[in-house]
Amino acid sequence: MSPVLESEEHKALRAAVSALGKRYGRDYITTINKEGRHPDELWSEAAELGYLGVNLPEEYDGGGGGIAELSIVLEELGAAGCPLLMMIVSPAICGTVIARFGTEAQRRAWLPALANGTRLMAFGITEPDAGSNSHRITTTARRDETGDWLLTGRKVFISGVDRADAVLIVGRTEDARTGTLKPCLFIVPTDTPGFAYRPIDMELRAAEKQFELTFDDIRLPADALVGDENAGLLQLFAGLNPERIMTAAFAIGMARYALARAVDYARERTVWGQPIGAHQAIAHPLAQSHIELELARLMMQKAAHLYDAGDDAAAGEAANMAKYAAGEACVKAVDQAVHTLGGNGLTAEFGLASLITAARVSRIAPVSREMILNYVSHQTLGLPKSY
Ligand SMILES: Cc1cc2nc3c(=O)[nH]c(=O)nc-3n(C[C@H](O)[C@H](O)[C@H](O)COP(=O)(O)OP(=O)(O)OC[C@H]3O[C@@H](n4cnc5c(N)ncnc54)[C@H](O)[C@@H]3O)c2cc1C
Repeated sequence: MSPVLESEEHKALRAAVSALGKRYGRDYITTINKEGRHPDELWSEAAELGYLGVNLPEEYDGGGGGIAELSIVLEELGAAGCPLLMMIVSPAICGTVIARFGTEAQRRAWLPALANGTRLMAFGITEPDAGSNSHRITTTARRDETGDWLLTGRKVFISGVDRADAVLIVGRTEDARTGTLKPCLFIVPTDTPGFAYRPIDMELRAAEKQFELTFDDIRLPADALVGDENAGLLQLFAGLNPERIMTAAFAIGMARYALARAVDYARERTVWGQPIGAHQAIAHPLAQSHIELELARLMMQKAAHLYDAGDDAAAGEAANMAKYAAGEACVKAVDQAVHTLGGNGLTAEFGLASLITAARVSRIAPVSREMILNYVSHQTLGLPKSY
């Protein structure tokens, strides 16, 4: 499979998801946001059609594909104006980690349900005091004499916890509390006694909310641990690389949606006797954004291809670059789209201005622009570290 030229299967998947997305469209998201609801209908239908679990193994009711296919699904729903943010987390991070490192019982318990949309999993790594420096996370697990785990920690900005059945929490074991991060992953059901969460008041207009989590010595069974407690970063990045690729898909989809609205408007809107799109000051930035999105998508496809081919090391660099390119292209495209609509760019009727805030998410999360530039400076270019 070429990472550059899309296969006929991928084109067909793109077209089918796009058709589903257009049936819901931006109006659906606007309506559920107003009503304070969640995109349950779209989530269920996408699951029924096999799109949510397209990356999960066939023996657990998934589609047997990879992140390449899952990123197509998210990009096309986004381009139709109705992205499903939790796809980045539930099937992409949690599904992948459980499929690759979970026990047979964990796979049976979670994968078919994540694929058919009946269960949802959130993912928690970010901590208030560690921020971008995940090596400083302090969520700590210790085993008691019964073999159970006792988990203590605090997490922030965790998406979708109110809707999730469990959160895949990144912690460290007691003996690995200091020094280099040796992360270990725990499935924490959201109804675990002592597991508390409260919404963070965000300036984002989206159904998916972010939460602060607090838990102090909550008791988890021995089999809450996913994979090997000593496997370290390999297991974590099995989830973080898909997350970066999917965030690129989220950004590209959103940007394509905004750009398409701007192009339609620029064709129609006439103020000096000709459509505003005839002015190069309007046309060129839109053309530039289109090119930048195509380039970002190429990088995303490369990253997905490497990841699905099992080349975790090369996929890491490519996933970072794809997330960077897509985030930057998205921020610029959305800004230009709003500008193209003049005053209408700021009206609720056209609904573009709220995307300015949404677009910024892809520059900050799950890893910020600066941390990617740090990574490329040090890992790719071999420049010295300042920190
Ligand atoms: C909408 C949304 C949803 C999210 N969902 C989740 C989720 O589901 N699960 C989860 O675990 N997390 C989630 N996050 C958290 C997200 O991953 C973090 O916000 C992100 O990693 C940045 O961490 P921070 O906010 O602590 O910023 P900080 O680390 O405090 O960084 C602040 C600024 O300083 C810069 N900076 C920091 N260190 C350096 C350096 N060494 N060199 C140069 N610049 C630097 C950063 O680039 C950034 O611009 C979400 C965030 C948002 C906004």
